[in-house]
Amino acid sequence: MCNGKLASSDPSALALRLDAVCTRIRMAEQAASRPPGSVTLIAVSKTFPAEAVAAAARAGQKAFGESYVQEAVDKMGRLRSMPESGPLQWHFIGPIQSNKTRPIAEHFDWVQSIDRIRIARRLAAQRPADRAPLQSLIEVNISGEASKSGVAPADVLELAREILRLPGLRLRGLMAIPAPDLPPAAQRAAFRRLRTLQETLRAALSGPSAAGIDTLSMGMSADFETAIAEGATMVRIGTAIFGKRT
Ligand SMILES: *Cc1c(COP(=O)(O)O)cnc(C)c1O
Repeated sequence: MCNGKLASSDPSALALRLDAVCTRIRMAEQAASRPPGSVTLIAVSKTFPAEAVAAAARAGQKAFGESYVQEAVDKMGRLRSMPESGPLQWHFIGPIQSNKTRPIAEHFDWVQSIDRIRIARRLAAQRPADRAPLQSLIEVNISGEASKSGVAPADVLELAREILRLPGLRLRGLMAIPAPDLPPAAQRAAFRRLRTLQETLRAALSGPSAAGIDTLSMGMSADFETAIAEGATMVRIGTAIFGKRT
């Protein structure tokens, strides 16, 4: 993923867009004096078919984000019959209803949108014993009332402590979707607040729990360079890779 040699063997439009996104990520890392490869790209494939995922996988992208459980599970099933795509890593990034936790726990590698303890407990209990713990991010409501999803910043520490007690989950950090259409300075401030919150969380936890918290998922097609400047380690990009969703 984003290995700098994507487009050479596959000149499709999708591979070229993916390559362009990877180049922009590398440039943003460099501009922020961050090591190359310190930002992981999640290609957000929601609403796009399995064929589009397979094309991105052929171009070297292996981590994908999905927001709708049933659509994602159907897509994973179709991709299993396209073995040339190789093993893929799946991130659930959408709102989680409690009656949808089981397929998330059974099919995904990561869940980025945990925003309440009830959901965390269900995911942990339903994670199959033969799978690695579900890599987990807490979704934070970083823009206040402008956003409906995510836990309030003041409640992050308590939720983190609860998740750390659940054997089926491994807490890796925080995720946020700042309100859309913020002026650039306010958008940047929102990303900075999430990074500061992550630092506060690590300081409040101790030892291995704090060390395991290494992921800051922020930045989408319209704003990922700003997010990288503010410390994102994971960006979730759909439109710039797959095109406009209809
Ligand atoms: C759809 C979505 C994205 C990707 O958004 P783009 O603007 O298409 O890059 C990222 N994160 C989440 C949580 C999403 O739902």
